[in-house]
Amino acid sequence: MKKIFLATKNKGKIKEIKKILDEIDDLEVLSILDGIEIPEVEETGLTFEENSVIKAIEIAKYTGMFVIADDSGISVEALNGRPGVYSARYAGVNATDEDNNNKLIEELKNIDNRKAKYEAVITIASPNLNYKSFYGFVDGKIVDKPQGKNGFGYDPYFYKDEYNMTFGELDENIKNKISHRAMALDKLKLEIKKFLL
Ligand code: IMP
Repeated sequence: MKKIFLATKNKGKIKEIKKILDEIDDLEVLSILDGIEIPEVEETGLTFEENSVIKAIEIAKYTGMFVIADDSGISVEALNGRPGVYSARYAGVNATDEDNNNKLIEELKNIDNRKAKYEAVITIASPNLNYKSFYGFVDGKIVDKPQGKNGFGYDPYFYKDEYNMTFGELDENIKNKISHRAMALDKLKLEIKKFLL
């Protein structure tokens, strides 16, 4: 059985990534929830890809394991792509999801164009620091009032017309089929076996 470690402290991401990768045979997916501690990695990159690679490489060095890292966020058209790579710290370094959501809604006050997309770059890195990254995105729009308690982060405000629901209302199995993270992980899944050899 091959082991792979998820290089994130975000429990929402751990839950989603684990569920999506659970379908792969002979793969044990480990995370901080298994008692393995990891240092905070400074996200100094200017793109999702740069930050995803930084996290994967740092944690592969630290753990000596195969690692998967995710860098993701929400990019809003009317805000020229903000918060983008700064999604987790939009309202400040120690901002909560609620702080970030409030700031986003405040910035979109009086703005009609609510188009947004979630983006994710997943990077797999090996103990000898080879790596490969995979991109995924999903389109939606931002609503003013939170709807639903599923998911995490901006999900209660991210509305999908096709389902007439926010990601906060959508069943987690559906989110895990259509999300930015799912799109990136689907591409990773095609190559993971080769990478782990
Ligand atoms: P990262 O840890 O720097 O990649 O931060 C990602 C941030 O983007 C999270 O803290 C959330 O605020 C936001 N985000 C990324 N993916 C999702 C998602 O699937 N749902 C809701 N928010 C997300």
